Amino acid sequence: MKRKSRQDAAHVGAPANAGASRILLAPPDQRQCLEKVNLVADYGAAVTAYYNAVSKLEEGMITGSPQMYRDRFKSTESARAMCEAARKALAEHDAEHGC
Ligand SMILES: [Zn+2]
Repeated sequence: MKRKSRQDAAHVGAPANAGASRILLAPPDQRQCLEKVNLVADYGAAVTAYYNAVSKLEEGMITGSPQMYRDRFKSTESARAMCEAARKALAEHDAEHGC
């Protein structure tokens, strides 16, 4: 799953035999909240998806039909809502954890 691979990505530089993905090997003062790392990654992925949806909308303006525009606009709205949900989840996490 994507979340798992993001966790693995957060451990770049860790020894190959680091074991469970929840173990952080950085010194205590450099430790990061893994949940927050994942939430930021989710936010970034959502923003990328939004960017891609708007790019497709723009492409469709050149060659597409009005129906294509409406369909693609719907996709941008959905992607925008995902961005907002990811941003909200991150803000809520910040407020709860203070991390
Ligand atoms: Zn946290």
